[in-house]
Amino acid sequence: MHAPLTTAELAGAAAEKTLLRFLTCGSVDDGKSTLIGRLLYDTKLVFDDQLAALEKDSRKHGTTGEAIDLALLVDGLEAEREQGITIDVAYRYFATAKRTFIVADTPGHEQYTRNMATGASNADLAVILIDARKGVLTQTKRHSFICSLLGIRHVALAVNKIDLVDYSESRFREIEAEYRAFAAPLGFETITPIPLSARDGDNVTAPSPRLAWHKGPTLLAHLEEIDVETDLEAKPFRFPVQWVNRPNLDFRGFAGTIASGTVRPGDEVVVAASGKTSRVARIVTMDGDLASASAGDSVTLTLEDEVDIARGDLLARPAERPEVSNQFAARLIWMQDERLLPGRSYLIKLATRTVPATVTSLKHKIDVNTLEKLAARTLGLNEIAEVNVETGAPIAFDPYADNRETGAFIVIDRETNATAGAGMVQHGLRRATNIHRHASAVDRAARARLKNQKPAIVWFTGLSASGKSTIANLVEAKLAARGQHTMLLDGDNVRFGLNKDLGFTDADRVENVRRIGEVAKLFTDAGVIALCSFISPFESERRMVRDLVGAGEFIEAFVDTPLETCIARDPKGLYKRALAGEIPNFTGVSSPYEAPQAAELVLPTTDASVDELADRVIAELERRGLIDAV
Ligand code: ADP
Repeated sequence: MHAPLTTAELAGAAAEKTLLRFLTCGSVDDGKSTLIGRLLYDTKLVFDDQLAALEKDSRKHGTTGEAIDLALLVDGLEAEREQGITIDVAYRYFATAKRTFIVADTPGHEQYTRNMATGASNADLAVILIDARKGVLTQTKRHSFICSLLGIRHVALAVNKIDLVDYSESRFREIEAEYRAFAAPLGFETITPIPLSARDGDNVTAPSPRLAWHKGPTLLAHLEEIDVETDLEAKPFRFPVQWVNRPNLDFRGFAGTIASGTVRPGDEVVVAASGKTSRVARIVTMDGDLASASAGDSVTLTLEDEVDIARGDLLARPAERPEVSNQFAARLIWMQDERLLPGRSYLIKLATRTVPATVTSLKHKIDVNTLEKLAARTLGLNEIAEVNVETGAPIAFDPYADNRETGAFIVIDRETNATAGAGMVQHGLRRATNIHRHASAVDRAARARLKNQKPAIVWFTGLSASGKSTIANLVEAKLAARGQHTMLLDGDNVRFGLNKDLGFTDADRVENVRRIGEVAKLFTDAGVIALCSFISPFESERRMVRDLVGAGEFIEAFVDTPLETCIARDPKGLYKRALAGEIPNFTGVSSPYEAPQAAELVLPTTDASVDELADRVIAELERRGLIDAV
C-alpha cells in the first residue's frame, strides 16, 4: 500500500501528473471486480485529493475552463448520449501521486461487445484478465481482438488467481507464451504479463514475497509508469470545425477542438474537402489570443481570407492533407437490434461532419471468438464486419490506425436517430477518387427542353392492391395524350429483368428499391417523367431515392387504402395466400408497411375515383411547373 501523501507532495506531483485511460476485460469469475475494487481501495489514501486532480485535468484536457469537466469521465459516450441510447459502461476514477486513472469497466460477455467497444474507444491500455487455472480462453481472444480493433496499443496481461496455482512461475510462463503466440497478429505495441492475486492483493499495488521470481512491476506500478503517449501533437494538424462563430459582421471564427497537431498564427491551412487555402490570423480563446494551440485545445480560429467554411469541414495543412472521398473501407460494430441492411440509407457522423451513407458491400463478418471471416448479407447486434461505405457527399478522414479522432465514425439510424453502429475507417477507395463523371455535351436540361417538360420521379407507394398501378397507368395514358414523355416502372417489369436475382427479405427489398431509384434517376437525366409503382414499405428507402435526385424532383404519392379494403379487393389473390401463410414476408400481413409521414400527394382510393386521383397527380405536375397547363 502507498504511504499517505502530504498535501505539498500531492500538489507537487499533480503538477506533472498524466492521465491514463484504461479498460478492464474479463468476466466476474476472472476476478475483475475484485481487481478494480483492490486498485480503488489500495489507492484511496488520496481520495480527498481526487477532486483537486480532476480539476487540474479538467483544465488541461477539458473544455469547460475552470469548472470540473465531468465529460472527462464519460466522453467516450458523448456521441451515444446525443443519440439517446445508454450503453452500459461504468467509468471509475482514481489517482496516485504519479497519475490519475480513468478505468472503463464493461461486462465481458459476447452480448456486451458494443459496450466493450465503447469503453475501448478512447482507452490507452487494456488490462486483460486471465484465470491462471484456465489460461487463454475464447473470451480472452475476443476481448483482445476488440481491443486491437479499437486501436488500443498496450496490453497488461493480468494472470490472476496465481495463488490457486501455487504461485507457479512455469504456469505463468506457459500462459504468457500462449497469449503472445495468439496476439502476435493483433499488433499490440506492448504486452506486459503480470502475475497477481486480486483477492489477496499480491502484486496488485505492492510486490509480493510469494512472487519473488517475478522481476517485472506490480500492476499499479506498470499502470503508473507505462508510456502511452501517442504524441497527438506531433501528428498532422486536424481541426474539425464544430461551428462557425459569427457574432457580428467584423468577426468570423471557426470553433472546435484540435484533434491532432499544432497550429500557430501565420500557418497555411486548407479546407480538406474544397481545397481552398488561407492562413491562420488569430487563435482566439476566452482567456485571450494564443501564440499556438495543439491537440485537445478548444479554440476559435480566424483566417486571413474570406473562405467558405461550414460546420463539419476539416482544416489541415496543405502538405499533410487527410483523404477526401465518398467511398472508404471500414470495420463496423453493429449496436442495435434492427439489422444493418446494405443499401439502406443511414447517417454517419465522422468528427463533426454528418452525411447520409450506405454500406455498399458487406465483405464479410468476423467471428469475434475465432477471428474467422464469415459470409453475411446483413449484420446483427454486436456483430463485427468489414464493409465498404459510400457517403452522399465526399468527406475528409484519416485511417483509424493513424488518427482515432478523424478515423472513427458512428452510424445513425435515420428513423429513430439512435446510434446504430460504430466504425473505423481502414482506407479510402481509389475507384471513388479516380472516377470523374463524364460531362456530356447534351446535358439533362437540354434533353428535358427537347421534350418540353421538366423531369421528375413520381413515386407511388402503398400496400399491394392499394391501386398504385391502376392510378399510375391512367396518369401515364393522360400524359401521353398531352404529348409528355413518361416511363412507367413497376414491380413486374423490374423484377423480371434487372432485379430477378432479388427476393423479398428486408435486405433484398432495400436493394430492389436502390436499383429502381438509380434507374429512375437515369430516366430523369434523359428528361423523362418516371412513374414508379412500388410497395416500397420502408421510409428509409423512399428517402434514399428522394436523396438521389434534385430538390423538387421527387414526388411521393401515397396511395392510401386501408388494409381491409386491399384484402377485400385482392385482384391477384395474393392476400388470400399470404393470410393462409403461403407467402412469407408479405407486406401488411407478415411484413410491416411504414406509411409516409410527409408525402407530396396523398391519394385516398376509398374517397375518390381512379380518374379523379390521376387528375390530382397531373394537377400537381402542372402546379410544380414540370409540364405546361392545358
Ligand atoms: P397495386 O398496384 O397497388 O398493387 P392495383 O392497381 O394492381 O394495386 O390494384 C388495385 C385494385 O383496386 C384494382 O383492381 C382497382 O381497379 C381497384 N380500385 C378500386 N378503386 C380504386 C381507386 N379509387 N383507385 C385505384 N384503384 C382502385
